[in-house]
Amino acid sequence: MPLLEIDDLRVAYGKVEAVQGISFAVEAGQVVTLIGTNGAGKTSTLRALSGLLKPSAGAVRFDGERIDGLRPHQVVALGLAHSPEGRRVFPALTIEENLLLGAYLRRDGDGIDKDVARAYDMFPVLGERRGQAAGTLSGGEQQMLAMGRALMSRPRMLLLDEPSMGLSPIMTKQIMRTVETLRADGMTILLVEQNARAALALADHGHVMESGRLVLSGPGGELLHDEEVRKAYLGED
Ligand code: ATP
Repeated sequence: MPLLEIDDLRVAYGKVEAVQGISFAVEAGQVVTLIGTNGAGKTSTLRALSGLLKPSAGAVRFDGERIDGLRPHQVVALGLAHSPEGRRVFPALTIEENLLLGAYLRRDGDGIDKDVARAYDMFPVLGERRGQAAGTLSGGEQQMLAMGRALMSRPRMLLLDEPSMGLSPIMTKQIMRTVETLRADGMTILLVEQNARAALALADHGHVMESGRLVLSGPGGELLHDEEVRKAYLGED
C-alpha cells in the first residue's frame, strides 16, 4: 500500500479550478517530484494535501486513512508535514521560536531539544542566527527554516514546496543533498520544484503538471531525458 494516495483530487478558488482531477501515489521511502510552470497548480495541490485548503472533490489517503477534509494539525499529527514556500515563516519570531512552533504537538522536551540541534547541524546558518527575527533572513535562509520547522514534527512524510526558490546554484545543490540525506534516513518526500533538472535528477518518480492536470509521468531519470520535458522545462532546444 502506498504511503500517500491521491485519487482524482480537485481544488477550486471560486470558479477557478486550479487542480482539475489529479491522481498519483507515493510509496514509502520514495522521493516523488511534481514539476511544471508557474500557476500549474502545484502549490494548491500541496496545500490541499496538508489541510490548508479543502479539496472540492477527490480522496486523499495517508497510510490507508482518509485525510481529505482534516484540519492541518490533524494531518501533522498523523505524520505528514508541509514545508511551505519560504516566505511563510513567522517574520517577527526568532529562528528558534519558528523551529519550536514546528514541534507544537510534541511533549517530549528532550527530543525537541535534540531535533533543534539536528536542524542546526543540517543548516548551520540557522544555528548561527538562532536569536534573530526570521523576517531578517534571506529568501533562501527562510526556505531552510521552513524545511527545518516541518522536520520538527518528526514526520513520516514531508511535502516540500520549492525548497530551492531564491537559492544560488551552490545552495540548491546543498538543499538537494539534504533531500537525499533525508531519503537515506527513510523519509518519504513529495517535492514541488521549478528547478526541474535538480528535482528529476534525484526523484524516483516525477509528474509534470500543466493547467491543473498531470500531463506526463515517469521515473525521474526517464523524464530528465525526455525530449518534450527537455524542451519545455529544462530550457534546451
Ligand atoms: P507557482 O510555481 O507559480 O507557485 P503553482 O504551480 O504552485 O505555481 P498554484 O499556486 O497552485 O500554482 O496556482 C494555481 C492556480 O490557482 C493559478 O492560476 C493561481 O492564480 C490560482 N490561485 C492560487 N491561489 C489562489 C487564491 N488564493 N485565489 C484565487 N486563485 C488562486
